[in-house]
Amino acid sequence: MTSISGKTTIDWAAFAKQLAPVEVIDEPVLVKKRSRDFFWYSPILNEDLKRCFGDLVAVPKSREELRHCLKLAYEAEVPVVVRGGGTGNYGQSVPVDGGLIIETTAMANVLEIGEGFVRAEAGALMVDVNAALKDHGWEMAMFPSTQDIATIGGFIAGGSMGIGSLATGALREPGNMLELKVMSAEAEPREITFSGEDIMRVHHAWGLNGVITEVKLRTVPTRNWIACMATFDTYSSAYRAGLAIANSDEMAPKLASVVDARICAYFPRLKGHVRDDHALLVALVPAEDMQHFRGVISDHKGQVDQALTDAERKALGLPHVFEFCYNHTTLQVLKSDRSATYQQIGVPDVDDVAAIERLRDELGEVAWTHHEFARLDGKVIAIDLPIIWFKSPEQLEEINEIYRRHGFAVYDAHTSKVERGGLQNADYKHLAWKKRLDPKGLLNSSKSAAWDLVKDLTPEDIDAKAVQ
Ligand SMILES: Cc1cc2nc3c(=O)[nH]c(=O)nc-3n(C[C@H](O)[C@H](O)[C@H](O)COP(=O)(O)OP(=O)(O)OC[C@H]3O[C@@H](n4cnc5c(N)ncnc54)[C@H](O)[C@@H]3O)c2cc1C
Repeated sequence: MTSISGKTTIDWAAFAKQLAPVEVIDEPVLVKKRSRDFFWYSPILNEDLKRCFGDLVAVPKSREELRHCLKLAYEAEVPVVVRGGGTGNYGQSVPVDGGLIIETTAMANVLEIGEGFVRAEAGALMVDVNAALKDHGWEMAMFPSTQDIATIGGFIAGGSMGIGSLATGALREPGNMLELKVMSAEAEPREITFSGEDIMRVHHAWGLNGVITEVKLRTVPTRNWIACMATFDTYSSAYRAGLAIANSDEMAPKLASVVDARICAYFPRLKGHVRDDHALLVALVPAEDMQHFRGVISDHKGQVDQALTDAERKALGLPHVFEFCYNHTTLQVLKSDRSATYQQIGVPDVDDVAAIERLRDELGEVAWTHHEFARLDGKVIAIDLPIIWFKSPEQLEEINEIYRRHGFAVYDAHTSKVERGGLQNADYKHLAWKKRLDPKGLLNSSKSAAWDLVKDLTPEDIDAKAVQ
């Protein structure tokens, strides 16, 4: 069997045999399919990554099978990329160096549901975790809008926040991630437990410093969530209403997002359910808080177009409201026009609506705003995931410059390096643990710009760079 990636020289047929009894996928079409994630949101990443493939997929069903995969990969010095649902946006799970893809989705048991926590194997889909939790009166404190196909381990390794972050903050905030178990890529793979602050050594490391086998995460009591959609004549009134909902002491929403009217024109499934040509606010609000919600919408001269229980939403054939927020908004536009892309923008002062209006005036038709409200350190913040009409990398950089000139932060969505902003953002603590748990540098190493510079140092020397 020849190398599908064209980048490795090992005998993959023999390697597949050695992996037995682990299930493998070697059909080139399927291996190529599992070599992709949602990097194609970015025309820049699409160009860089669309021809990068792995050579073989292993689907371990247990920790023992996973250990066997990692042990063999270590012996044969095979590059490894761990894959959950493959829904990342930055090519995190693309095997740039070829090699073995380890798919976690067959390690998917929900292990324990307790008072305010869930323990699950890393490959569990979040939709299944949430379904199991709801039977016990709980739900995940936060989850991404991709919960139907994304794994809980992939969220910890590749994600950052989601539906629920308005109430309980980003994943990285204390109390949200309680414990992780991680397997090393060594001659004899070990399983290490991380808890407390040490969880940050593995969180958002894109699977480059170990394979997460099990997670213990915060849960919150489940509520009768009402899926709300309200429309406004202007973006700024929708934004102000979203901000008031996010800040309100009288309601406990799980989600509040505001979408430019021009973006809503790309939501055919909402046609006839919300007013055309209006800015849209989507929110998840507990049933008992609906009176307050309606009051805020009316105070801001908006109209509540839909307020649906889950059963009512399903009866109308409507998707979850969170399919119109976070990066699902971009997906809705991309479904009809592949020249769209997006960016990740930090809003410096959530209350400064005038600054957002000035920015929107200057951006005009090239970038259409869409804000998510969330909480960081207990304070309401906003991030913008605008639709950008892409022409060239240079034009994108000019647009980035407009944001920066207005004082907004650009967290570039068009790089497949975990450091994003470059070496100054290297997480040396992640890399020190990579050296400890992946001494041969087999795990997703191409995603770190800094790894090549530190890979020959000791873990302690790499750690020391974190405080320099
Ligand atoms: C439409 C859309 C909406 C999205 N919305 C959100 C959102 O609201 N919030 C958010 O944070 N993200 C969001 N994302 C990104 C992504 O869906 C989530 O982060 C998701 O949780 C990733 O899970 P996954 O199983 O698909 O991971 P994958 O894409 O398979 O993997 C992500 C990264 O984690 C690594 N990895 C996977 N499993 C493991 C493991 N067990 N151990 C170690 N490393 C591992 C992979 O190597 C890769 O580097 C969105 C993406 C899309 C396309």
